[in-house]
Amino acid sequence: MKTKLGLLYGGKSAEHKVSLRTALAVNKALDHAKFEIYPIYITEKGEWIKGKQLNGPVEKVEDLQFSQTAETDFSAKLFQTEDGETFDVIFPLLHGPNGEDGTVQGLLELLNLPYVGNGVLASSAGMDKVVMKNIFAHAGLNQVQYVSFIKSEWNTKPESAYEQVEKELGYPCFVKPANLGSSVGISKCANRTELETAFQEAFQFDRKVIIEEGVIAREVEIAVLGNDNPKCSVVGEIVPKEDFYDYKAKYEDGDTALIIPAKITEEEYKTLSEMAIKAFKALDCSGLVRADFFLTKEGKAMINEVNTMPGFTPVSMFPLLWKHTEVEYPQLIEMLVQLGMERHKEKQ
Ligand code: ATP
Ligand code: MG
Ligand code: MG
Ligand code: MG
Repeated sequence: MKTKLGLLYGGKSAEHKVSLRTALAVNKALDHAKFEIYPIYITEKGEWIKGKQLNGPVEKVEDLQFSQTAETDFSAKLFQTEDGETFDVIFPLLHGPNGEDGTVQGLLELLNLPYVGNGVLASSAGMDKVVMKNIFAHAGLNQVQYVSFIKSEWNTKPESAYEQVEKELGYPCFVKPANLGSSVGISKCANRTELETAFQEAFQFDRKVIIEEGVIAREVEIAVLGNDNPKCSVVGEIVPKEDFYDYKAKYEDGDTALIIPAKITEEEYKTLSEMAIKAFKALDCSGLVRADFFLTKEGKAMINEVNTMPGFTPVSMFPLLWKHTEVEYPQLIEMLVQLGMERHKEKQ
């Protein structure tokens, strides 16, 4: 019997387009002799559109999308075939708010459906950079200094927010919306004027912002895969051409170099992989995460964040790291599906 796999993609987030590319790639890579694939497209407005079974690879995004009536009730029917058979597993290929943040995971939990990747808690804690860093601090993980403000605090006393940043962090610092990804809304600030603009920018995306001490360091990432006994990939390094790895560098110009495996010492690998596993466990992750680090010249590692649904096209860091760890893309997808189904079984 084939496994009925629901591919959930698109989504109401700034990372909608990336998700479309991923859906195409995942459908292409999956073995259609083993899987029946059912697409569910979430529009940028947040409507859910269910498609017919995909019988093989398709080349264009338009072939994944269909002009059907949008579903507005989030019922079990969304995850059933036309004959009323429930899908065996759902793969949420969604990034950012309304997809990577535990909301969709919560819906799938309520419907008691197996799904790929992190659960509600890990997804939501991983989406909020302040909560995530507080948990990392509790786990004793090295990280940069940070402070955070909610919009109303800043609105009442903007000056005191800026003074606190200058006193506790100094310049350069990074201002970020607390709940986003893909570097959206992030600014690097060198002085008070830039700080003021950066606060305004970040608060357009979120009611909470985080400000971090800026570090000069290499940027390295590890992919983690598993449930109770997670394994680490090799380490990859990001070398952005611009000042930092901003949205443009990620999606618009392809000039950022990804070096896999990164040139690091054995000792550095040991530190990074132990920290990645510690972070995975601290957030109670399952399935996968990509852990992002800063690595100083002196070999000091600081965790920047984990991404609970990292970029997942065949040329994204997470799949590339596994490719260099001898797990090819189709195999990686099957492993993730398996891990999702195992996790579900354990909970029953
Ligand atoms: P994604 O989820 O796509 O990885 P994100 O939106 O969650 O990105 P971060 O990874 O936190 O954002 O930051 C984006 C980039 O900004 C980093 O890859 C790095 O280049 C730079 N950066 C962020 N924080 C700092 C910091 N404290 N010091 C130096 N550089 C930083
Ligand atoms: Mg992130
Ligand atoms: Mg992200
Ligand atoms: Mg990052």
